[in-house]
Amino acid sequence: MSALPLVFDAPRRGKPPRHLADLDAQERREVVTALGQPAYRADQLSRHYFARLVDGPAQMTDLPADVRDRLTGALLPTLMSPVHQLTCDSGTTRKTLWRLFDGALVESVLMRYPGRITMCVSSQAGCGMACPFCATGQAGLTRNLSTAEIVEQVVAGARSAARGEVPGGPGRIGNVVFMGMGEPLANYRAVIGAVRRITDAAPDGLGLAQRHVTVSTVGLVPAIDRLTEAAMQVTLAVSLHAPDDELRDTLVPVNTRWKVDEVLDAAWRYAAATGRRISIEYALIRDVNDQAERAHGLAKLLQGQLAHVNVIPLNPTPGSAWTASRPADEREFVRILRAAGVATTVRDTRGREIDGACGQLAAGASGTA
Ligand code: SAH
Repeated sequence: MSALPLVFDAPRRGKPPRHLADLDAQERREVVTALGQPAYRADQLSRHYFARLVDGPAQMTDLPADVRDRLTGALLPTLMSPVHQLTCDSGTTRKTLWRLFDGALVESVLMRYPGRITMCVSSQAGCGMACPFCATGQAGLTRNLSTAEIVEQVVAGARSAARGEVPGGPGRIGNVVFMGMGEPLANYRAVIGAVRRITDAAPDGLGLAQRHVTVSTVGLVPAIDRLTEAAMQVTLAVSLHAPDDELRDTLVPVNTRWKVDEVLDAAWRYAAATGRRISIEYALIRDVNDQAERAHGLAKLLQGQLAHVNVIPLNPTPGSAWTASRPADEREFVRILRAAGVATTVRDTRGREIDGACGQLAAGASGTA
């Protein structure tokens, strides 16, 4: 990606503007009635935003013109503007760089597969988890996103899909994964709010099934337990990347606070409470975590559990010596897990050419990705 002058704007302080996607249906009605309008106008606005996917007041012809401007001004402020868009895979993978109200930058990625469209969204500008193999982790955390700033990434993708802007004809977003920039469980409240808006039935939300939303975490144990208590059906992905504490302490530094056993125990509590299979993410790094003994160690941890392993060939980040495993080592790693009865898939590496693949969403942090 070319250098973007906007990247160097110092973020201003302050809160993102309030948006109807920050509020539940009742709260929206309260705002509308406080503005002297009948409560049903809140539902009209929600329908425009979540169901009709309109992107401007002009299309809201069921609202009188003067009312329209007041209500959209109060509940549908512009949250982000596209700075840059890159596509690859014949247009079916598309990364968008967004500038937020304060100059902070985040990215979202739309991926169209045969039969489904997945949106990968950011939950924070930057990330504070400092995983050394991840591009976003290198520059630290700028700030948490608001619920609406997260939801708007999905709605923007839904608009494009509905209008047939993605090759393959008009379509709908079927899956949302919190695998863009940021650690979603470090921004728990906003992320849960976003999950609710994404999964609330239309027109209060986008109407996706909870099980089609995946929250990926480094393993913040108290927040995993909170998610368990929330009794939702979202898929939990745990970024493990090593079966032993010694190595994981270096690959996922938060492991010095919550160890492999503690993280997995929290994951199994989530699986027991929800019946949902845990996705164990394992970025395979040549000669770092891809040895046969580590595959055996991982298999031992996961055998008999409600889990499957998602092997992610490492996406090398600029300036790092680490790279993806040799094909033979990757095959052997996967073979060992499967032979031990652990369901294992290798993730495709979509979006690599546009730095839109896992861990590459660093434009907001450095402007050089
Ligand atoms: N903070 C969350 C979401 C991060 S991105 C988490 O850590 O789970 C989603 C996945 O991509 C995580 O498993 C992350 O470890 C992985 N990832 C990050 N950088 C990567 C890279 N360079 N190559 C492959 N996977 C990477």
